[in-house]
Amino acid sequence: MESKQPKVNPFAIEVRGVTHAYNGHKVLHDLNLSIPKGEIFGFLGHNGAGKTTTISILTTLLRQTAGTVRIAGYDTLEESMDVRKRIGYLPENVTFYNDLTAYENLAYFARLSGIKHVDAKIDETLTFLDFEGVKHKKLKTFSKGMRQRIGIAQAILHDPSVLFLDEPTSGLDPMGIKNLRDIILRLNRERGMTIFMNTHLLSEVGKTCTSIGVLSMGKLIYMDTMERTLNRFPDEASLEGIYVRMETAEMS
Ligand code: ATP
Repeated sequence: MESKQPKVNPFAIEVRGVTHAYNGHKVLHDLNLSIPKGEIFGFLGHNGAGKTTTISILTTLLRQTAGTVRIAGYDTLEESMDVRKRIGYLPENVTFYNDLTAYENLAYFARLSGIKHVDAKIDETLTFLDFEGVKHKKLKTFSKGMRQRIGIAQAILHDPSVLFLDEPTSGLDPMGIKNLRDIILRLNRERGMTIFMNTHLLSEVGKTCTSIGVLSMGKLIYMDTMERTLNRFPDEASLEGIYVRMETAEMS
């Protein structure tokens, strides 16, 4: 069978008029996002704002009530298999087979995903993540930070062009957060991955992201580059001050 030509498109992620309702209750309202290739996008918002719902729609796990989403040029509803080949996803609580080793977990996932040259791919990925030493250790012996790194290995094993991370720093200690930041920056710089990251950790957004969006009660209330954001709010001592100001203005 002829393989599809990659679509030429400057945007990694395009969201047009997306609305979502659970049992008739609207939680996303006319969401529009255009994220160019190569960005590290930080998606901020209070608890229940709709960030996980958005990531579920973008990763084809949930069908939106209305609107369209294109990832790397492919429609998430009409071309979901093309989208899945091009995305990696690390959910907030990633699950593994705890009695299997890191290698066995990754090999199981790789075979399910139809990855060729499984052993070589696992070795290459663990080396990239500086994690070869744990290849034959069982997941039940792993710390939260180690599980997170294996989660990333699983998410990038098939060389996706867009990586989605849902609250990746949740539960990590400062060293774990720094290691994760280094990995995100290397995936972006060395492999050209576009990264979409749901997060509450504003200090990390400032150190990692090239652009941000703020979601409040299912509506996008702000989106711009990190550079313009910091220039626009020069009187705020920190990104947290900027964020609180946006949320307060929206809710008042
Ligand atoms: P958090 O930061 O707490 O993870 P979030 O921004 O990711 O929050 P979502 O998990 O997307 O927010 O939830 C948005 C809204 O949708 C919330 O009001 C939530 O209760 C509701 N919701 C989420 N999943 C479902 C579901 N499966 N069925 C019904 N309502 C849901």
